[in-house]
Amino acid sequence: MYTLASILSHIHSKRHVVHDAEKPIYDLAYDSRKIRNAEHSLFFALKNVRDGHTFIPDAYQKGIRAFVVSRDDIDTSLYPEASFLWVDDVLGALQDLARHHRKKFKKPVIGITGSNGKTIVKEWLAQLLQEDKKVYQSPKSYNSQLGVALSLWNLADDYDCAIIEAGISLPGEMDQLEAMICPDIGIMTNIGVAHADGFASKTLKIKEKLKLFKHTKDVIFPSRYGFEEYLAAETRVFTFGERDMDEVKVLRIEEMHAESSSIQVSYRQEIVTFAVPFVDKASIENVLICLTTLLFLGYPLDAIPHKLGRLRPLEMRLQLKTGRNNCSIIDDTYSNDLASLQIALDFLHQQQQHKKKTLILSDIDGLNDHLEAKLLSILRQQNLNRIIIVGKSLRHLQDKLHTTLLFFDSTEELVRNLGNITLENESILIKGSRRYHLEDVSKLLVAKSHETVLEINLSALEHNLQAYRSMLPPNVKLMVMVKAFSYGSGSYEVANLLQFNKVDYLTVAFADEGVELRQHGIDLPIMVLSPDEQVFESLLSAHLEPEIYSFRILKAFIDFLRIRKQKDFPIHIKIDTGMHRLGFLPDEMEELTALLSAASEINVKTVFSHLVASGNRQHDDFTMQQIAMFSSSVDKLEARLGYRVIRHIANTSGIANWPSAYMDMVRLGIGLYGVDMDGKMTLEKVSELKTTITQIKELPEGATVGYDRKGLLHRPSRIATVKIGYADGYSRRFGGGVGEMSINGQKIRTVGSICMDMCMLDVTDIVAHELDEVVVFPDLMEAAKHIDTIPYELLVNISDRVKRVYFYG
Ligand SMILES: *Cc1c(COP(=O)(O)O)cnc(C)c1O
Repeated sequence: MYTLASILSHIHSKRHVVHDAEKPIYDLAYDSRKIRNAEHSLFFALKNVRDGHTFIPDAYQKGIRAFVVSRDDIDTSLYPEASFLWVDDVLGALQDLARHHRKKFKKPVIGITGSNGKTIVKEWLAQLLQEDKKVYQSPKSYNSQLGVALSLWNLADDYDCAIIEAGISLPGEMDQLEAMICPDIGIMTNIGVAHADGFASKTLKIKEKLKLFKHTKDVIFPSRYGFEEYLAAETRVFTFGERDMDEVKVLRIEEMHAESSSIQVSYRQEIVTFAVPFVDKASIENVLICLTTLLFLGYPLDAIPHKLGRLRPLEMRLQLKTGRNNCSIIDDTYSNDLASLQIALDFLHQQQQHKKKTLILSDIDGLNDHLEAKLLSILRQQNLNRIIIVGKSLRHLQDKLHTTLLFFDSTEELVRNLGNITLENESILIKGSRRYHLEDVSKLLVAKSHETVLEINLSALEHNLQAYRSMLPPNVKLMVMVKAFSYGSGSYEVANLLQFNKVDYLTVAFADEGVELRQHGIDLPIMVLSPDEQVFESLLSAHLEPEIYSFRILKAFIDFLRIRKQKDFPIHIKIDTGMHRLGFLPDEMEELTALLSAASEINVKTVFSHLVASGNRQHDDFTMQQIAMFSSSVDKLEARLGYRVIRHIANTSGIANWPSAYMDMVRLGIGLYGVDMDGKMTLEKVSELKTTITQIKELPEGATVGYDRKGLLHRPSRIATVKIGYADGYSRRFGGGVGEMSINGQKIRTVGSICMDMCMLDVTDIVAHELDEVVVFPDLMEAAKHIDTIPYELLVNISDRVKRVYFYG
């Protein structure tokens, strides 16, 4: 933990005015619009496009009480409660602090640089290593002088390794980055043309980039660039390529029908061949860098093809859509090779909502006898009800598979005959290579889409699950909150993924939500929050486990179970340690245990409570008090019951901030859906609400837009109408310029009142066309602030009529 005093000792401060030297500092701030935890943040007045000193009043007003500044003309009397640390160079001070923090991390730090591909290599590597390690990675492209410092600040002891990206645009910049990152392992991706960015020659550019590895023991790179020539003599290199001395020898790269490549490599006398869905040189080189790094880290060669099979660029994401006739359509029509087929089939297999499963499969290029045997075994494993094959080369499989098989010579033939095939109440995987354009089939099977959709990225959800899971010791169980339609993100679609990823428990708010999950094949234990007597029957028939929060409900449930002759029905006891919403009070434990131990109808599965301010450092004392009160209540309860129960109290912020509250299980909610209330995690965005421009018009100054003439135009304007309104969950409070949306990354604001099904945007200052895609909440956290609410409310308000489209991969 840092305090103002400890921070002072790590930066070079010329003078300072400090009020509370022992005040803990958890967060660094540099943008007054993005302040989260003001009281415990230290604000750096950086000189960027604008001078950060001009935002001091705003930051102070938002509660910041500690500043690092360089200007001498600050009137400190305006900020009576604030501490100021004066330095010559504000960014330098931030970097000093980051450097100090990095030095405390004793596990491997991988540094990545190069002209191109460093972000993708970092993202891929993190994805690959996350399967069995807690990996810290610098956020998307935080690779600059500021970005690197900020990303290092979030490094914490419980990660197994860190991957940090470094980017420079001028000579001389790498020294600072090197001093901060101090990589233990280096990766240099490649080198581009000499003059592309501020360097006199290619050699100078290579030398500058390689400064990142001045003190690095091992450096990994593609041997064709010959970087070793510029590295210090004692640096060990680990390379791939076609030279004899390369550790990883690339034997063969073969393009298969312009969409995927087969790669053969050897390492220590072993050889593997695998396919990747890329043909461009850059992507293949990036894949090989990842492969070489995995081998360097000691992963066995034969484990690698399966791991690499998961790597894909964004536009190739597999999609899950709602189909006609109550079907689920999995659309993966970009490539077709065995590795990606296996992954898509695994995903199909996760879909529990329909028993029946159909695969529509195009020819697979480059099959030899060996690969064909593998294909057969993959298809046999999967209990498919039917396989529809497009193309001619798999016809002979007819006798080898005991499933219903249909054959079509071409996609056109399948499209013509689609009306004659009954496709209903089933999950359908459409898997084909690009040249078969099976998307034509998918379009016909998918239910027609409304203009406004909520896109849900299931891989991001999986990533976030992994990110939180990696913080937990192995014996701590994980309960996931899927209440309120999974915070707006869907029901069985999300639950299937969670079941597949083996979480321990799900929780819903209402019995009906649990019943729906059961109907769609979810068989994980499900807890129902605060059920009442009317739903006891459904609890029993769908085997849903109630939260019991009062004597009234406990007695009623025991009576119900007695009449139905049930024994040991699992229940969850809620203790009120300070939320004062539902639950037994700690002084009711005696009476409670008397009742519980006398009732053989029930079995106390877990006991839990809820933290009221686990994400708010101001209330840390209260949180500790809650934890202590909870523990002593459960101790009493267990002693009298005579058996152990599962204890849980931590929600998302509890996981991020309170390891002492993990106990036997934690309850993950908002974090899974990609909202990082604590600013400590590297989460991926899960849901994106999108709409399209329906009409654009040019209007003169003085015209008004919308109901009651609320949107008066002060200049000639271009106004765009989009089909999202308050009936979709876009609050009326976003009207009159409060709401901000974006088109191709350009921010725009609402004009006039929000209507029921539509609203209007001022696009005068940007490039926009009819039918352009509009992102409704470019920054969910900011959007929530604009209307004085929290992200939870925005997410769960997105109405049912907004179609959900799921992506995976
Ligand atoms: C919703 C809920 C959670 C999850 O809270 P997050 O802040 O979303 O992590 C945990 N426990 C209970 C009882 C809840 O109702």
